[in-house]
Amino acid sequence: MPGPAVILKELHRLRRFIKDLETKIEQAPRQLAIQQKRLANQEEAAKAAHEHITQLALGMREKEVSIKATQAQIKKYEKQLAESGNKKEYDTLKAEIAQELVHIAKHEDAILAAMAESEEKTSKLPEVEKTTQKARTDFAQFEKDLEERLQRFAADKTRAMEEMQATEATLAEDVRTQYTRLIAAKGMDTLSGVQGKICSACYTEITSQMLSELKREMTMLCKNCGRMLYLE
Ligand SMILES: [Zn+2]
Repeated sequence: MPGPAVILKELHRLRRFIKDLETKIEQAPRQLAIQQKRLANQEEAAKAAHEHITQLALGMREKEVSIKATQAQIKKYEKQLAESGNKKEYDTLKAEIAQELVHIAKHEDAILAAMAESEEKTSKLPEVEKTTQKARTDFAQFEKDLEERLQRFAADKTRAMEEMQATEATLAEDVRTQYTRLIAAKGMDTLSGVQGKICSACYTEITSQMLSELKREMTMLCKNCGRMLYLE
């Protein structure tokens, strides 16, 4: 039958293993949320890219309508101009027409710029669509992998818990009583290995007498951190 050191070392290993699994299980929802957010951002970017092209088209249409209205207005001025016999009125109409022509030219420039931009953005849509599709499959894969990992973690945890209980049962009764009391009070801070003469939890040196007692398989608490010691 192994002495307490071997058993305590194994219990320490199992407790750390279980704690590590619990941490991984706890982190899973946050990891999933990060990936979800990443996908949502990409979907949003794709939607915005389409929306932008739609807005450009709408803007062009509005400007075309405005140009037509301005052209109609110019025709009206030209008619008045032909009928005008008054120098001052003639000059005013000429100025109005010139102003309307500037207005049309400005709109035409804007339409050309929007057309170029629209063509450029449209040419990039397949790439955006591809990236979005990839983000969707990546997320689905991540979700599937995470689900599998979580199942494995849960199974590992159950197995480790059973193993831990079975191992705890092999402790001599007096040691087990002390160990159980410490677990209740200190949880993960119950055990510590001694390497050389150093408590590996708090890095305090133990006395030579403690060391020789540990070597004789007596149980001992660290005088500094109160953990139950075992020789590594
Ligand atoms: Zn210590």
